[in-house]
Amino acid sequence: MKSDFRRTKIIFTLGPATESEEMLEKLIRGGVDIARLNMAHANHEWTRMVMRRIRQVSSKVGRDIAILMDIKGPEIRTGDVSAPIELKAGEIFDFTVKPGVDRENAEEVRSVDVNYRDLVNDIRVGDTVLVDNGLIRLEVLEKHDAHIRCRVLIPGELKSRRHINLPGVKVNLPSLTAKDRADAEVGLAEGLDFIALSFVRTADDIALLRQFLAEKKSKARIIAKIEDQSGITHLEDIVRAADGLMVARGDLGIECPFEELPIIQRRAVRACLANSRPVIVATHMLESMITQPMPTRAEITDVANAVYELTDCVMLSGETTIGQYPLECVQILDKIARRIELEDDTEDREVAVFTGDRMKMLHSAVVLANQIPDSKILTFTRHGFMAHGLAALRPTHSPILAFTPYEQLFRQLRLLRAVEPFLMPFAAEPDATIENAIMVLQQAGRVIPGDKLIIATDILSQDRLVDSVQLRTVR
Ligand code: PGA
Ligand code: MN
Repeated sequence: MKSDFRRTKIIFTLGPATESEEMLEKLIRGGVDIARLNMAHANHEWTRMVMRRIRQVSSKVGRDIAILMDIKGPEIRTGDVSAPIELKAGEIFDFTVKPGVDRENAEEVRSVDVNYRDLVNDIRVGDTVLVDNGLIRLEVLEKHDAHIRCRVLIPGELKSRRHINLPGVKVNLPSLTAKDRADAEVGLAEGLDFIALSFVRTADDIALLRQFLAEKKSKARIIAKIEDQSGITHLEDIVRAADGLMVARGDLGIECPFEELPIIQRRAVRACLANSRPVIVATHMLESMITQPMPTRAEITDVANAVYELTDCVMLSGETTIGQYPLECVQILDKIARRIELEDDTEDREVAVFTGDRMKMLHSAVVLANQIPDSKILTFTRHGFMAHGLAALRPTHSPILAFTPYEQLFRQLRLLRAVEPFLMPFAAEPDATIENAIMVLQQAGRVIPGDKLIIATDILSQDRLVDSVQLRTVR
């Protein structure tokens, strides 16, 4: 069984394995919707180069994908080490916060610097320090002026710029760092479409980024990454403040008891549907494929569950930055999503909260579409409201063919479940715009005579724009 379109969207993270023109072309043809740049591992020169390359390959292929820049927020990292440090179980090890300041027994105790100056104040003796996504575990023994002294509980190899988690510690770092602002400026200058903020703790973090974007006159959309306890506690407010959410399972799985993770994922997806916000399920979806050509049974089922939960988007990280099978990963996500989407798992679809009359009207359009077999939804959107509203209502089988005259919005619509964006200038008369769109769809082979279209758009009625829902059969 194969569906003629995929509802669930695919984000891939760009890295050494996927930055070449050849591979980018394969991935764009293979159906990726959004490219993600992880600014923990990117310098500005590289960022500019790859952003231009994505645009250039997209236009060559004739399929424009969106660009998402992932800025790191209050993420704690170790500094550079000249060679990997092999941490042994029981070893005493220091994390320093002021490089160059002398430590007692410095000649006997190995150390690494961290980018968190207040570490010594905010941590307690007995707390846990996790390094490299929780692979290495240490216990805090002593606090000093310029370092903390720890004992290694779970050993491992410490390399440069490793991520540190301090479960339960209220990290006192700014939500938007100087590095984030500098990274974002480069991305904005190159025309990024989405900006994802890491470790969003409250809705205020989003407000801060929104103000920054307003100052830069950018229409980039904000994705909030929930990655720790505070993000979960303020989930609903964060969802409403942001333009979309990422369930960042990598850090969530370290910062919370891991058995909570599936519960949080489900809650987060539903909170997004209820508030008409797109949602991304991220991290470790096909982790074993970094080195293997086939996913594990558990990974297949994990991807399928995200599709069953009606997520907008699934994401690849290490699989496409350093993995050996990036294209295969995309093909496998595509295959699983198309198959699972055909299952008529309609329970619990309707979670959207209808805050206004327009949303109620879109709801009636989706109810109509659900009752007409093989129907397609057609909509016209200048600010994205119609497309976001329709997508959040999760039509059972109809694609949402969304036309917009704006290039950036066209790319941003790629994030939304079941939305197929089309870029087309609008005519002065709404009716002519509809006719033009149907012509474009026919030429693209996306509709054929006899197709039933449910059209949600505004029409001109005695010089006034009014919202309408129409049912038309393609001639
Ligand atoms: P990261 O975020 O890959 O930037 O850490 C995603 C996650 O934590 O899952
Ligand atoms: Mn993370």
